Amino acid sequence: MTQIPITRAKTLKPHPDESSLAFGVAFTDHMFNMDYDPDKGWHDPRIEPYGPLPIEPASILLHYAQMIFDGHKAYRTPSGAIQLFRPQAHLARLNRSARRMCIPEIDEAFVLEAMEQLIVLEQSWVPTAPGTALYIRPMILAMDRCLGVRVSNTYRLCIFLSPVGPYFAEGFKPVKIWVSQEQVRAFPGGLGEAKTPANYAASLFATEQARREGYPQVLWLDGMERRYVEEVGAMNIWFVIDGELTTAPLQGTILPGITRDSVLTLAKSWKLPVAQRRITMDEVIAANRQGRLQEVFGCGTAAVISPVGTLKYGDQVITIADGKVGPVASRLYKALTDIQYGRADDPFGWMVPLG
Ligand SMILES: *Cc1c(COP(=O)(O)O)cnc(C)c1O
Repeated sequence: MTQIPITRAKTLKPHPDESSLAFGVAFTDHMFNMDYDPDKGWHDPRIEPYGPLPIEPASILLHYAQMIFDGHKAYRTPSGAIQLFRPQAHLARLNRSARRMCIPEIDEAFVLEAMEQLIVLEQSWVPTAPGTALYIRPMILAMDRCLGVRVSNTYRLCIFLSPVGPYFAEGFKPVKIWVSQEQVRAFPGGLGEAKTPANYAASLFATEQARREGYPQVLWLDGMERRYVEEVGAMNIWFVIDGELTTAPLQGTILPGITRDSVLTLAKSWKLPVAQRRITMDEVIAANRQGRLQEVFGCGTAAVISPVGTLKYGDQVITIADGKVGPVASRLYKALTDIQYGRADDPFGWMVPLG
């Protein structure tokens, strides 16, 4: 592919201290942009200095949230090379979100190449400290100005990058999760399976409520009956009951996580029993009471695997695996991060080396 035109930043930013990187607060010097209009289609791909976007007060985006995004990571291997984890799967999901939000699809192969060129330019920003990575955030925004509620004609694709630290500042530790009984994030026919801002707006109130009670994350139940477990804020959720790994099925209300899919693939390759089925909170509580609930963990790009030590459901607070990290979560975390950081073979062809 031809080189994407680059306008270089006049001054380069100092890099943050790698030993204290937080999630998503530092951004690199450049971003990739491309525009869409109905006549030209997607056009004018370019790499430019990272900076503000031209968004007017009357933008459809600001009022009606016609926008999608995705997120994945580039990792530094022991030899210093850089590799991306399943970028094709993430771009395919970006296009699925696009269809749901009436946004024109992108050419996935072209955008992957453009993304790679951006990361090559910014390679000094890929951190090397243990547990760190370069987070890649592609997004597509409606650019029309109009106060009528309608689909935009023009769009901007923007990809920007953020060096991120390990998700667990104090190491791989179980988290406390609050089950939302009043509010729901999604419902059949809604937007639940798209990575689009409305889903996160819907989650804010309950998440704040949980945070005030000392629970950093919310577990969402289904929107119809509020009985079936769906997912966590930005993670899919797994229960290990009698040795079987169980997670909610993809029926349109949860995000089809790439990490979820990777967990399924690994567990099957290890011949562990797995089930994608609807599971109620009552079943989870009963299994815990009977000593059959062995582990609970979330999975997503940011944390990879996040063990759950405590679940609060109404008045009931249950402790899982004595609040310790279970063997399935540990094994998955090690297997996934060993592949991502190039410390182990990549039997499923997940990694894409840069350059
Ligand atoms: C992004 C996200 C996930 C996890 O998806 P990954 O592809 O594994 O990062 C799960 N649930 C929600 C709501 C998300 O936004």
